Amino acid sequence: MPILVMKFGGTSVATLDRIKRVAKRVGVEVSKGYDVIVIVSAMSGETNKLVGYVNETSPLFDAREYDAVVSSGENVTAGLMALTLQEMDVPARSWQGWQVPVKTTDAHAAARIEDIPPANILQKFSEGMKVAVVAGFQGIGPDGRITTLGRGGSDTTAVAFAAAFNAERCDIYTDVDGVYTTDPRICDKARKLDKIAFEEMLELASLGAKVLQTRSVELAMRYKVKLRVLSSFEEQSDDAGTLVCDEEDIMESNVVAGVAYSRDEAKMTLVSVADRPGIAAAIFTPLSEAGVNVDMIVQNISEDGRTDMTFSCPTDQVKRAEKSMIDAKERGDINFHDIVADTAVAKISVVGIGMRSHTGVAAKMFEVLSREGINIKVITTSEIKISVLIDRKYMELAVQALHDAFELEKAA
Ligand code: ADP
Ligand code: ASP
Ligand code: MG
Repeated sequence: MPILVMKFGGTSVATLDRIKRVAKRVGVEVSKGYDVIVIVSAMSGETNKLVGYVNETSPLFDAREYDAVVSSGENVTAGLMALTLQEMDVPARSWQGWQVPVKTTDAHAAARIEDIPPANILQKFSEGMKVAVVAGFQGIGPDGRITTLGRGGSDTTAVAFAAAFNAERCDIYTDVDGVYTTDPRICDKARKLDKIAFEEMLELASLGAKVLQTRSVELAMRYKVKLRVLSSFEEQSDDAGTLVCDEEDIMESNVVAGVAYSRDEAKMTLVSVADRPGIAAAIFTPLSEAGVNVDMIVQNISEDGRTDMTFSCPTDQVKRAEKSMIDAKERGDINFHDIVADTAVAKISVVGIGMRSHTGVAAKMFEVLSREGINIKVITTSEIKISVLIDRKYMELAVQALHDAFELEKAA
């Protein structure tokens, strides 16, 4: 039997009624002759609630226990989905990550999938089971403990299963009907794309477009998984949604494919650090050891041998970053006058493969922001993207103005 992977995100399994609704869709694929692997997220809001409990209990938590708590939301929906399918007379069974097993690295809270031996589930399919419902987002580490894959990780579970089982397709059902030129929730003019190149999707995802977890796109690209994003709320035809595919499979595309934003950014500044060889290593090594994901970095002009070092990191890592810098100062490894965290910033990025061959995108981006009176705090660029850090209160304005300026509402 051909295998299909269907993943349902939090809003798609938010209530028992919605679980019923998406179970019917699974039933349709079973009746077409597929063996189906369903990957479920926790009910929407559930993971946030669990993360909140952990943070309140222990701000600098032990990540093993964080995983023990936050992985539990998916266990509930996996069991409920299997029960719902059984009620519809579809032979189904639920699996938690460790039961499959989904083997991961030991990087708790941000683990990577290393292997998914398919034998157990294939055996059940051969015995007549039609649907394996797997709890997304979780796995088991080399220490035998539960791990999680980082926020949004069920997408990655889905693609990893599609690769491991050589599935015909991996369908990601969510609360929008595909990948858009930007988040349709903050820009009315956002346009749904029929296709998007892996590389562009990878950048958009890593820059904040949470419709797919970055790692899921990486895996789909590496293992050539046919990846589709579509709505669980609308009736679907076979070519619905957005196909994430190779660049060569797209005939025409705009220079800029999309605009992404991330509101979970914080800007940290170490005020007046000694400007000497090795200072960057002395700052960023302990940050990395503390598990802080530093993104943008600027070192200001030095005066009298001292300089300010600015970097950005996710808002929820500010406490960790501060602690690691203060510890390094106490050890005498670095010296600074103050550490200032600005958590009211956002990162806005424009992404497009066309930037490789077209100049002027950065200039236009800066011009648009300046026209709107938006100050740029930090800039970074790569071959196919430009990112800026701005005050968060201008985030939506910036996304909309850039979407207009690059005419993303129009297809190429
Ligand atoms: P799920 O719970 O199904 O995993 P997510 O909330 O993780 O859903 O991701 C879907 C959301 O991603 C949409 O509701 C939308 O607000 C947001 N989003 C951000 N950027 C984009 C984009 N470029 N295209 C589509 N959706 C986007
Ligand atoms: N429930 C997890 C989260 O909210 C994983 C997911 O939904 O993909 O991050
Ligand atoms: Mg998601």
